[in-house]
Amino acid sequence: MKFSRFFDDRSGGKQTSPILKSAGLWYTESMNHRGLKKLFALACALLLLLAGCALPSGAPSSGTASLPLHQLAVYGEHALLWLEPNPPESSNGWLRRLTLDPLDRAAAEREIICGDAVNQGLCLYQLEPGSYRLLSAGQPISAGADFLPLEGYTLPRGGERLHWRFSEQQGLLILSITAAAALPENYYDIFIDVGHGGADSGAVAAGYIEAEENLRAASYLAELLEERGFKVMLSREGMAIGGGAAAEDNPYLAGARVDAAYRSQASYLISNHLNSGGGSGFQIYTSVLADNTWAEAVAARFAELGWGGDNGNSGLVEAGTYKRWTRDNPHSGRDYYFILRETGGYALAPYRYKVLNDGMQPQLRRGAEGILLEYLFLDNSSDRGYWELHYQQLVEAAADGCCDYWQIPQSRDQ
Ligand SMILES: [Zn+2]
Repeated sequence: MKFSRFFDDRSGGKQTSPILKSAGLWYTESMNHRGLKKLFALACALLLLLAGCALPSGAPSSGTASLPLHQLAVYGEHALLWLEPNPPESSNGWLRRLTLDPLDRAAAEREIICGDAVNQGLCLYQLEPGSYRLLSAGQPISAGADFLPLEGYTLPRGGERLHWRFSEQQGLLILSITAAAALPENYYDIFIDVGHGGADSGAVAAGYIEAEENLRAASYLAELLEERGFKVMLSREGMAIGGGAAAEDNPYLAGARVDAAYRSQASYLISNHLNSGGGSGFQIYTSVLADNTWAEAVAARFAELGWGGDNGNSGLVEAGTYKRWTRDNPHSGRDYYFILRETGGYALAPYRYKVLNDGMQPQLRRGAEGILLEYLFLDNSSDRGYWELHYQQLVEAAADGCCDYWQIPQSRDQ
């Protein structure tokens, strides 16, 4: 038991809590009466007893004061931890400061600052292999009641992936990072959503059908990403959609695209579309709760080709990149596009999937970080001409932009 020794070292009675220390100091300096001294000792014992009773069942038995975890979520390759429940309409109360304390005492503690965006949490792929306990303001975080372990894999970088696992040991929340050669059979790195399909054709213009063109783009994107060592799942490989005809109206059904994204365990989701309705160039959407880095990375690669962004939709951030809030409630903290919102897990406060798939609740702790690409306007004749000649270059640029964001070295650039 490698870990118990470590915890014993920290709680072997040598350390006094800062509160008692200061109380003791106050006592020795200002009091000198025997009766009061006894009374003070009694009060201290009573306080300790009460504090002990107040500890939740999942708290460590070592006697160290700890903070019970309320919720854990992993969005893409970033972990977010909550100590308090969120108001129902938002999910952004995660811890902004964390300390990772390696259980191998040879390594130094590491301070982590999380950002205000869901893709700025604890970055799992930047951690060294090892086991860590997590602390907030110097206090260890305990697993809390009803904790279930959560695990997954990072993308392969430099030929190697990391397996990450949040578990409970002696009541404390422990994060373990180990090197992993390959993904288990039912795990994928990237889920590629092929827009529309089945009876839903998407946009139709001059003999082009969006559902077919999306499949052409997505299949090539999958090929490019597989060449780089990623394991990829497509939401469909033909014109039929997963989950059967009923899934056209309800993408949350078992086997339909939202459900399939969760079951793929993928860290990232790329949704492929062609636009219509008047405009020219690309539009890129990422979650309203994420920063704009991924969208900008892809936009920069499109710009290298000389392919510009369309700025005509609402929610424009800059040059063809967008964030769109739900139409019915712009302050709900939720995304307008279901494919981003409902596949992002707890971090994005999905609601339809949660309601329709009660049994999948534990799975919502893990969500894919998503991007929705509208490569160009199918109902614009010059965009259509560009698509016919250059669709492969556009898809290659998208793959390059994604790899830039994921910090994957690009062979194309070397
Ligand atoms: Zn579409």
